[in-house]
Amino acid sequence: MEEAGVTGEPMGSEGRQEAEAPGPKGTDSTVWVEGLVEDLLAHPATDRQVEVVEAQLDRFPRGMVAVGARCVCGNPLAVVTRPRLPDGTPFPTTCYLTSPEAVKAVSRLEADGSMARYTLLIGQDARIAQEYARAHAVYLAFRHALADRLGDEEGRIAGVSAGGMPIRVKCLHALVAQSLVMGEGVNPIGDMALDRIRTDFDPSVCRCADPWPGLAGRQSHEGGARLG
Ligand SMILES: [Zn+2]
Repeated sequence: MEEAGVTGEPMGSEGRQEAEAPGPKGTDSTVWVEGLVEDLLAHPATDRQVEVVEAQLDRFPRGMVAVGARCVCGNPLAVVTRPRLPDGTPFPTTCYLTSPEAVKAVSRLEADGSMARYTLLIGQDARIAQEYARAHAVYLAFRHALADRLGDEEGRIAGVSAGGMPIRVKCLHALVAQSLVMGEGVNPIGDMALDRIRTDFDPSVCRCADPWPGLAGRQSHEGGARLG
């Protein structure tokens, strides 16, 4: 297991706030991550969700396990992909951003030079560096739990997370996807990026060009879609 350093580490003494959202800070992250995996596997991707994600990405989402985060309208925002695609290809980007609106907003942020600034911040701010390293460990623990449950070999992606973690920022899409799937308080850079794009993309405000099909006629989407 790679989660050494995730659990039981004192967070420093100077009055830092705990995350309000459920997350690894102050909780047993192994248990938390396994609970998240259970929850996702209890709601596997439906054919309709796969269809919508295929339209979002303009390619078939191979190895898609479940929708990890949804817009208030029900549209997938980020998906969870198994560690091995059906043809055996290792797939490290376990949390994958699919919402075209989110992808666009994050791309604009990247084009703005944000990745270099965030990388610098990680180098200068010990607290953020520690949280970012923890986000890396949580990412690995999450994928490991998923691999365990699905019987996937992690092979050479074991120990490799995503987005440049644990010390650099190379892809904000991957970090934002982690923040969306795992909630606020897990990945500090993903959270900051989400905050920065709030006026263009916000998971609690539907700005989808194509909102979830047939939303009005549907009885309910179980889980996270909060309407209204
Ligand atoms: Zn929407």
